[in-house]
Amino acid sequence: MPELPEVEVTRRGIEPHLLGRAITGATVRNAGMRWPIPRGLPKTLTGLTVRAVKRRAKYLLLDCGSGHLILHLGMSGSLRITARGEPAAYHDHFDLELGDTVLRLTDPRRFGAVLWKRGAVLEHKLLRDLGPEPLETGFSGASLFAETRKRSAAIKNVIMDSHVVVGVGNIYASESLFLAGVNPKTPAQRLGRERCEKLAAAIRSVLTKAIRAGGSSLRNYVQSDGSFGCFQIECAVYDRAGKPCRMCGTPIRQIVQGQRSTYYCTHCQR
Ligand SMILES: [Zn+2]
Repeated sequence: MPELPEVEVTRRGIEPHLLGRAITGATVRNAGMRWPIPRGLPKTLTGLTVRAVKRRAKYLLLDCGSGHLILHLGMSGSLRITARGEPAAYHDHFDLELGDTVLRLTDPRRFGAVLWKRGAVLEHKLLRDLGPEPLETGFSGASLFAETRKRSAAIKNVIMDSHVVVGVGNIYASESLFLAGVNPKTPAQRLGRERCEKLAAAIRSVLTKAIRAGGSSLRNYVQSDGSFGCFQIECAVYDRAGKPCRMCGTPIRQIVQGQRSTYYCTHCQR
């Protein structure tokens, strides 16, 4: 599943191909995404210019002046830049056309989204209640400390809650907790200020590293089939059950929290 780093790398990959370009058309081959692609979207978009390519959480926002095209990659979606006339494959559900350039959405499982919001995009119902961006100033040890005071849930589930901070997916939650030395089962409210600072810094560090790792593959972006695996940051704990901790050698433990697997070191994470 594309997580925040993959979406940010996608943003950086497509931005130079879209910025300042006029939209000459759009093709909807299958409107049956997570929410139906709005009827009449091609007509709405044609003639507009892409003024900015932004991201909020895992949503890509194409600022077209009078409104924003909102794109979400869902479970299996990807975007790529291709040339006009390139035949579409079965799962290529949406094209945004900018002269000879085409931004193409491929999504086998169709949990992704293509939506339009006139006016202020951050007031869209999918965006308005989102918590702070992990890599921006709204998120800090102090904000994490404040958000966790009344929460008895496990800290891992709390940092994956998009009201607390957006874009901390399952892989990056395990990795951040390891880096901060925090046991994922710790009730959130039991973390003191100092450990909240450490955890916030770890979240930023892990996501930044993943974006950088993904960015290094950007050169191949246009030619790629658009598919992303899990970004191969070298995981310290994620998917390493039973293998020795890279710090202390203790076998990594796997548990289930909120129906998702968590990986951690019982020695390094207290
Ligand atoms: Zn360890």
